[in-house]
Order: sequence, then C-alpha cells, then structure tokens
Amino acid sequence: DRRFFVGGNWKMNGDFKSIDGIIAFINSGCDGSCCDKVDVVVAPPAPYITYVKEKINCGAQVAAQNCYKVAKGAFTGEISPEMIKDLGLNWVILGHSERRHVFGETDQLIADKTMHALEAGINVIFCIGEKLEEREAGKTKEVNFRQLEAIFGKNVDWSRIVIAYEPVWAIGTGVTASPEQAQEVHGWLREFLKEKVSEQVAASTRIIYGGSVTAENCRELGSQSDIDGFLVGGASLKPDFVQIIKARS
Ligand code: 13P
Repeated sequence: DRRFFVGGNWKMNGDFKSIDGIIAFINSGCDGSCCDKVDVVVAPPAPYITYVKEKINCGAQVAAQNCYKVAKGAFTGEISPEMIKDLGLNWVILGHSERRHVFGETDQLIADKTMHALEAGINVIFCIGEKLEEREAGKTKEVNFRQLEAIFGKNVDWSRIVIAYEPVWAIGTGVTASPEQAQEVHGWLREFLKEKVSEQVAASTRIIYGGSVTAENCRELGSQSDIDGFLVGGASLKPDFVQIIKARS
C-alpha cells in the first residue's frame, strides 16, 4: 500500500512576498485533512527553507532541492545533508534533470549524494527521466534504467526513497506525458525494481510523475496503477497545487 506523495519543487523562484502567498494557500487549502492521506513535501530555494518550515502549519514537510555528498568542508556554494538534518528537515531532491543537464551532474555523483543523504538520515526524492531525442531514438527504457541502477547494489534503504520519473521533454514545456506514456514507464520501473532489487521493494516504493502536471491533468494521471503521486514545478507556485494534492480524493 503506497501512500500518495505530492512534492512541490519551487526551483529558483520566490521572494518573501510571493512565498508568503504560497504558504497561505497551502495552509488554508490543506484544511488539516489532506496531509492525513497524502505526503506533501515542498522544496523552496535553500535561503528560504527555514522560513517556510516555520510558517507552514499543516502537515506538509519541507525539502531541500539539492545537497552535496560530504558532511562539510571546502565546497563553496554547497549544502550538506547534515545541515538539512540540523535544520529539522527530512527530505532532499536529488538527480533533478536541471542538475543533470544544466549543471552536468553524473549518475555516479547523484548515486554518491543519495547514499550520503540516506546515511545522514535524509529521505531522497530520486529523479530520473529521458530527453526527447532519447525517447525518439527508442532509448527511454535504457536511459531510465541506467539512471536508476546507479543506486542498485548499494546499501539503500528503499523505504526512504521516492522515485520521480520526470521526462525532460515534459518539464516546464506544457507537454505532459499522456497517462498511458507515464504509466508505461512507471510499470517498467516497478518491474525493474522487482527483478533487480526485490518484490517487496517493487511493491512498496513510490514512483511519482513530474512534468507539466496541472490541476486539470492530475486526476487522470493519478488514477494510473503505478503512479503514486507527483513532483510539481510551475503549478506548485499556484493555488492549483492544493488541487493536485487532492487529486485522489
Ligand atoms: P513543471 O511542473 O514546471 O513541468 O516542472 C516539473 C519539475 O521539474 C518538477 O521537479
């Protein structure tokens, strides 16, 4: 039984004024009920994470958008999972397509970061997804499997990982994967977990979808058998986010 999971990735957006507005619609829209049934995790830009944590008064949790693979040291500009933990937070997004493709992060670096975050007690939203040219070349399965298997064979606590399938061509483009396209990949991923990790991990690990999720398309996507929630970008900055949290209710 996989609890529905909705993440809001604010990316590099927001200031105190707009963030106050986002917090207000989450606090009022959530009305104390949805967080009972859904894991809600929002990821503000790093400078605001403590502020958001203090102001959110429903059950929504706060995540960091990234972290490095060691606890401390001479790594200008980075934050560590130990710092995230010290702030009282429990989640980080790793392997987001913008980290992979804008900042050149490799499968290996993302795997190292994931292992270190888990060791530091931080849960990981582990993002994977193919680019348009990879899909068109028939490489969707291969690319997603390669990105996911970077953490196989290690001592991963799967109960603390949520996999986010985010096809790069659907991110911020308004072109959502169809429910069938998304379900197909989610099904492959669950089968892959079953083969390479275990039946129990395959059955219990949440696989969420990201890429142009909206208040309009979330219900149909969320009703697919292997889609266990969403990672939302643009729409997480708008009141629509509350409707997305409630996609299954
Ligand atoms: P959009 O919802 O803006 O397409 O972004 C998706 C995403 O990258 C979430 O991490």
